[in-house]
Amino acid sequence: MELKVLQDEVAGCRACGRLVEWRERVGVEKRRAYRDDEYWARPVPGFGDPAARLLILGLAPAAHGANRTGRMFTGDRSGDFLYAALHRAGFASQPTSVHRGDGLQLRDAWVTAAVRCAPPDNKPLPPERDACAPFIRRELALLPGVRAILCLGGFAYEAAVRLMRDTGGVLPHPLPKFGHGVVVPVQGGPALVCSYHPSQQNTFTGRLTPAMLDDVLAIARGVMDGVSAGG
Ligand code: SF4
Repeated sequence: MELKVLQDEVAGCRACGRLVEWRERVGVEKRRAYRDDEYWARPVPGFGDPAARLLILGLAPAAHGANRTGRMFTGDRSGDFLYAALHRAGFASQPTSVHRGDGLQLRDAWVTAAVRCAPPDNKPLPPERDACAPFIRRELALLPGVRAILCLGGFAYEAAVRLMRDTGGVLPHPLPKFGHGVVVPVQGGPALVCSYHPSQQNTFTGRLTPAMLDDVLAIARGVMDGVSAGG
């Protein structure tokens, strides 16, 4: 129930003028392939299993993906890649995520992002990042089962590090650099598990392959089950 309240609050937020203008303009101008779709064009709330042990953290909604469909990583190539892997790993009920009403359910996982509005060039500004940070803090507090945070890309890793510091988690010193498969144990908080982001830039070039994402999800599951280096 409290998660639903938070989701509704996120969806109604208009705190960042630049992002409000951008997300709404994208929703009016649309991409030709989606010209018959009614774009969501609002902040995108997290979704998944309230009992999740795995929190999957992205950067922000994609302009014609989640900003169109209203669900994280839904309706674009990044989402196709991610949910196929989540399905192989047993976290998703189906391998595709096309629109909000497609029946997809997550098991033991919750998908969200550090910034909830689609930013121009996928690059939120620091004040926008900071304005949105309270939402992920509140979301994590409402997901007490979380044992691991899968950070999709360096931006998400940095956001997760700030989240841990803000919520009293103690990180190793020196802080490990972001890298695919890196696990960062956190005293008093969930472990951070790093993965390259499933953007087309990475998946089309082979920087991130399906097998690599499968491997990192297996690492995350090990952390969740307490059989790997986790906090
Ligand atoms: Fe609100 Fe976050 Fe969107 Fe800014 S980025 S308008 S804080 S939901």
